[in-house]
Amino acid sequence: NAPLSEVDPEIAEVLERELNRQRGFLEMIASENFVPVSVLQSQGSVLTNKYAEGYPGRRYYGGCEEVDVAESLAIERAKTLFGAEFANVQPHSGASANAAVLHAIARPGDTLLGLALDQGGHLTHGMKINFSGRLYDIVAYGVDPETSIIDMDEVRRLALEHKPKVIIAGWSAYPRQLDFAAFRAIADEVGALLWVDMAHFAGLVAAGVHPSPIPHAHVVSTTVHKTIGGPRSGLILTNDADLAKKINTAVFPGQQGGPLMHVIAAKATAFKLALTPEFKERQERTLRGASILADRLTQDDVKNAGIAVRSGGTDVHLVLVDLREAEIDGKQAEDLLHDIHITVNRNAVPNDPRPPMVTSGLRIGTPALATRGFGDTEFTEVADIIALALIPGADVEALRARVAKLAEAFPLYPDLQQ
Ligand code: PLP
Repeated sequence: NAPLSEVDPEIAEVLERELNRQRGFLEMIASENFVPVSVLQSQGSVLTNKYAEGYPGRRYYGGCEEVDVAESLAIERAKTLFGAEFANVQPHSGASANAAVLHAIARPGDTLLGLALDQGGHLTHGMKINFSGRLYDIVAYGVDPETSIIDMDEVRRLALEHKPKVIIAGWSAYPRQLDFAAFRAIADEVGALLWVDMAHFAGLVAAGVHPSPIPHAHVVSTTVHKTIGGPRSGLILTNDADLAKKINTAVFPGQQGGPLMHVIAAKATAFKLALTPEFKERQERTLRGASILADRLTQDDVKNAGIAVRSGGTDVHLVLVDLREAEIDGKQAEDLLHDIHITVNRNAVPNDPRPPMVTSGLRIGTPALATRGFGDTEFTEVADIIALALIPGADVEALRARVAKLAEAFPLYPDLQQ
C-alpha cells in the first residue's frame, strides 16, 4: 500500500502536471467542468472494489448493503433534482446511457430522427460508424443555414415522411433552447417516442434556468459531468412506469455488467450539491458568462475580421463561433487560444467548407469558469481576451499575461495535492 508517487511515479507525475495544467489554463471546453473535492473523494474511494450487479435490494452479489444506500441516495436525489418519477443512475457514461435508451425503446432496423452530427448532434444520435448509425435506420434533421436554428417545420416534414420510431431532441453544439412541446407534438402526430438527450444543458435544467424536458419527453438521458459538474457518467430519467422497467433491463443486463459504485456514490454527492442555492447561482453565472461572450464577439472589431456568432447569440452555456469568412480557421483559432492558455475546441459549422480536422468554427463554453468562481467582471475580461486573440495581429504575450492574472485570482483546488 505504498503511495502512488512510489508505486508509479510516471503516473503520479501525469496527475501533478495535469492539475497544474488545469490550474494555469482557463477551461472553456463547453462539455467540461471541475468536480468539487467531495466528489473526488467519493469517486476515489473503496467503493471501486465492489461488485453490485442488479439494483438496490436486488443484487446478484453479497455485501451490497452499503452500496445499496449510496445508489438509493443517488436515485432519490436525481428524481428530486429533475422532478422525475424514475431514475437509473448506473450508466457509465453519456454514450452508454444513450445505448441503453435505444436498447429500451427501439429495435435494430427501426427509424430514428435526430439532429445531424455536423449540425450539432451527438455521435450516439445516428452517426454512421457509431452503434446508433450501424444498428438503426437514421434520418437526420439540421439547422437553417442562415439562422443556425432548428427548423421545426422541417422536423415535422421529415417525421411525417419517414414515420420514425424515435425522435431525438438534444445536442452537443447548439446555442439555443429547444422547443420540447413542439417536438412532443410532432412525436404524437406520427406515433413516435420522444427522447431528449439533455447531456449539455442538464445543469441549467436542474437549476431551473432552462426549460425542463421531463414533462414532455418519454425518456430523458444526460451526462453528469458537463453543466452539472459531477463525475464523468450518465443518467436516465422517465415518468413512464413501463419504460422505467425497460430502461432498468436495458442498462443491466442489457448493456452493462457491474455498476461503478464509486462513481454512483459521487453522483449522489453531485446531485446533493445541485440541490443547493449555490448551484443555481453558479448556473446563472454560467449563462450570463456565455451571453457576455456572445455580446463581445458580435462587436464591430470582431465582425470586421469576418468572425460571426452562430444564431447571433446564445441562451445556453456556450457560444458557437463561425470562422467561415475569417482569415483564421478552427484549428488555428484553437491553437492560438491554447497558446494564450485558454482551452476550447474547434467545431465544424453546418456545410463547413474546411475538412473536419480543421473546421471553420469554435465552441466556447462557460460552465468550468463559473465553477471556478468567475462572475460578470471576469467573463467580460475573458471575452475581450478571446475577441482580441481572434482578430489578426494579436499580441499573444500580452493576452497570455491577462489570462495568467485571471487564473491566479481564482485558484483551482487550492488545497489539493496529487
Ligand atoms: N450526448 C450528448 C448530447 C453529448 O454531448 C455527449 C458528450 O459529448 C454524450 C451524449 C456522450 O457522453 P460521454 O462522452 O460521457 O459518453
